[in-house]
Amino acid sequence: TERIKMLTPLVEMDGDEMTRVIWKMIKDILLTPYIELKTEYYDLGLEHRDKTNDKVTEESALAIKKYGVGVKCATITANADRVKEYNLKQVWKSPNATIRAILDGTVFRTPIIVDSIKPFVKTWKKPITIARHAYGDIYKSIEYRVKAKGKAELVFTTESGEVSSQTIHDFAGPGVIMGMHNLDQSIQDFARACFTYALEQKQDLWFSTKDTISKTYDHTFKDLFQEIYDNEYKDNFAAANIEYFYTLIDDVVARIIRSEGGVVWACKNYDGDVMSDMVATAFGSLAMMTSVLLSPEGYYEFEAAHGTVQRHYYKHLKGEETSTNSMATLFAWTGALKKRGELDGLNELVDFANKLEKASIQTIEEGVITKDLAELSEVRQKRVVNTEDFLREVNKRLIAIL
Ligand code: NAD
Repeated sequence: TERIKMLTPLVEMDGDEMTRVIWKMIKDILLTPYIELKTEYYDLGLEHRDKTNDKVTEESALAIKKYGVGVKCATITANADRVKEYNLKQVWKSPNATIRAILDGTVFRTPIIVDSIKPFVKTWKKPITIARHAYGDIYKSIEYRVKAKGKAELVFTTESGEVSSQTIHDFAGPGVIMGMHNLDQSIQDFARACFTYALEQKQDLWFSTKDTISKTYDHTFKDLFQEIYDNEYKDNFAAANIEYFYTLIDDVVARIIRSEGGVVWACKNYDGDVMSDMVATAFGSLAMMTSVLLSPEGYYEFEAAHGTVQRHYYKHLKGEETSTNSMATLFAWTGALKKRGELDGLNELVDFANKLEKASIQTIEEGVITKDLAELSEVRQKRVVNTEDFLREVNKRLIAIL
């Protein structure tokens, strides 16, 4: 049979360590036999980032702006250890931070649901997607350690020199202070990304802050969301039969735990940081979390939520067998191919990606799993396989489905 043809190239961003190994296996075993894969390739592996003074990361992000859809492998975020290990010119910035800054997007993290792996929260039946605002608040804050008696003030000076000043606290002794900010533009972009994503997924959108306590800061988030919803999304939400729902962060936590799932939960930066790990763990495994970055202009970058699985890579280098879970990386590919197919009107490509997802879920449900899932899977006859054999098992089922 003929391989599926593509129109527009996908922006392919290769990465590091074990996920780089998996990346090639996925392409060789599950993609290129079926698709005439058209990609524009960027090597974001640490060595090549170093060689290009990290220009390649910037170029790959600009390529996503040009073509609209990218798929990214996990990459090493450099630190002092890595500088030694790879003999780097400098501690390069995290590629994800660089890409996010260029695309200015919102990250949505969603677990892959499999019948045989029950979430720790018994009521959860459908995936919960966390949308995390990725700008400002404590992540761009100024902090100060108060050492002795003194007065802290919040001062704002307008361009024309008007000064507004409030006392934060009259310190009688040591303490701490922090100054943080956010921008209307960033909050509005975040809101639009969330509304757009919820519409696309046909799922309710929940948004939470602590506006009862933070009457100006958090309340501004609430108001901007409401304004954009009323002016731009209300009718579309009604037509799609989905709901936008604002409530307090503590209330949403209580509701999420009792819910069936199947909602998009928009979180402020810190809340999203904490809650996405909570949700990932409660659904079973980091190796089953997918992640997509959606920019306000409608560009998409798909990836796995996990890192490069360093420990497995060192085993792999020593020639030892590994059993690394490739689901999230595989779903990054299927997500990207589906989106490319939708945008280019290639039903065949969308259909193939759906079948590939189905085959991989079926593999796990039949008890053929990687080591990380061994304790979580409720299938009685389990067979733990190595990294490559898992993908070959998926391929067997894919062939049957096709
Ligand atoms: P990690 O996600 O690679 O691993 C965390 C833990 O989860 C480990 O115990 C690992 O064995 C397990 N795990 C994760 N994915 C798995 C999979 N697919 N199959 C089986 N087990 C899996 O995170 P880390 O160890 O903190 O970081 C390793 C490297 O990844 C670091 O250099 C870090 O900078 C990088 N990282 C990159 C990204 C990204 O590119 N998006 C995200 C996180 C970390």
